[in-house]
Amino acid sequence: MTQTRCIVCDKKITYQFTLCRGCEDEYGKRVADWPPWLAYLAREQWKEKKRRKRNPDRELPFSDFPENFIDSLSHIDDKDKDRF
Ligand SMILES: [Zn+2]
Repeated sequence: MTQTRCIVCDKKITYQFTLCRGCEDEYGKRVADWPPWLAYLAREQWKEKKRRKRNPDRELPFSDFPENFIDSLSHIDDKDKDRF
């Protein structure tokens, strides 16, 4: 399991999401509910992860960033909701 940090408060989190539980309670689980600055941070983090995975030693062109990022996150979110 990958260890990551909450993009809001920098708390260590071990599950595969962007926010810790506290921040999730405050801002909501769905990207659509997040304030723009938070959605931006999530996007940047996701972009960085993807860039490292795909091209460890090459810069990813900015234009390569997929527009459906928010939608895909929301999709994961919905699945999680059903599970709990
Ligand atoms: Zn947090």
